[in-house]
Amino acid sequence: MKRKVLIIIFLLILSFPFSIKAETIAQKRKEIANLKAQYQAQQNKKKQASNDIKSDEASIKNKESEIQTNQQKVTAAENESAQLTKDIADGKKELENLMSAYQLASGDNVYLEYVFEAKSYEDLVYRYAIMEQVMSYTNGKIDEYKDKIKKNDELKVYIADRQVQLNNQINNLNNEIADLYDDIKKYDAYANDIKDDINDAEQFLQWMVNMGCKETEELSACQARVNSTNNLGWTKPLIKGKITSYFGYRISPITGKSEGHSGTDIGGNAEGTKVYAIASGTVCKIVKKSSCGGNQVYVCSYVNGKKYTACYMHLLTINVSLYQTVYTNTVVGTVGGGKGTRAWETCSTGAHLHLGLGTGWYGSDYTTYTQWKSHLIDARTTIGLPKMGVWWYSRN
Ligand SMILES: [Zn+2]
Repeated sequence: MKRKVLIIIFLLILSFPFSIKAETIAQKRKEIANLKAQYQAQQNKKKQASNDIKSDEASIKNKESEIQTNQQKVTAAENESAQLTKDIADGKKELENLMSAYQLASGDNVYLEYVFEAKSYEDLVYRYAIMEQVMSYTNGKIDEYKDKIKKNDELKVYIADRQVQLNNQINNLNNEIADLYDDIKKYDAYANDIKDDINDAEQFLQWMVNMGCKETEELSACQARVNSTNNLGWTKPLIKGKITSYFGYRISPITGKSEGHSGTDIGGNAEGTKVYAIASGTVCKIVKKSSCGGNQVYVCSYVNGKKYTACYMHLLTINVSLYQTVYTNTVVGTVGGGKGTRAWETCSTGAHLHLGLGTGWYGSDYTTYTQWKSHLIDARTTIGLPKMGVWWYSRN
């Protein structure tokens, strides 16, 4: 009994080799909301960094203006000191002039002569008193000026220090700004990655919505339900036709590289003939007027529990839109490859449908043409088409 259960579980696992992780529309929506919140967080960080840059720049501007003001202060102090030095010299001269007003001889000993030329003791005292007053006044002034000059010299030293300090601060702020710009680049790169994830998740969500999955229905259950209700399976892409060229895609045993014909060519139809989806699914990629391959429609399907992508090439017209749900009675486009598509297409020599078939979903399991090519399989044997040259007249 126990063994039987194990076997059943094993078979269940085997039967879903391509099933993707359990997912529901509700979970997808939650995931998208989460990603959007992460994206917003990056945007907020970016905004904060931009604000920090602005505030740093304002701070630099203030400091630069302080440097300028300080330079003006230094110039003013220098001018004042020069003036004071001149005033001190002038003061001495003024004193001499004053003395000469008292009819004194000029010279270094002018004061002494003035005092000693007193005619009487009273005169001596008087002269001495005047002398003392004049000397005291002049010395006072000189001391005051010298003090001011000293203060100006001190100011110059202080400002020189302050200028070094300010320049260092400006350097630091500039480094901080450079770091912030680096941060913004990182936030942008991360935000872009998140944006890609959001895009992928939204496309996937759209796919599930288009398919008609219920809000909390697991994707695999939804697939199974949709498959059974639509009685899905393979059908032929054209009502009539015949194979004109086989799929010959293989890994070369010599070069080890993929080469050959990437699909099955079906002829026997005029340009404009309706091309139907070979299985129901979702249009997962559209290419318009490629120089080689022309108009192309890719339909992602889920058939018998496996994921496939069918590709219809050289179409004259594309009759579906991206992420549209298609059924086996949906016309995806019309046969081209002849005169009608010659204006843009060079890789086809006559009207035919090139039908490519690959495993997995182009656009979600892989996203490049090279990856798509490595997933290709033979459409003829998979969907059941007659051998080359043998006509069919029914899509069944
Ligand atoms: Zn072909």
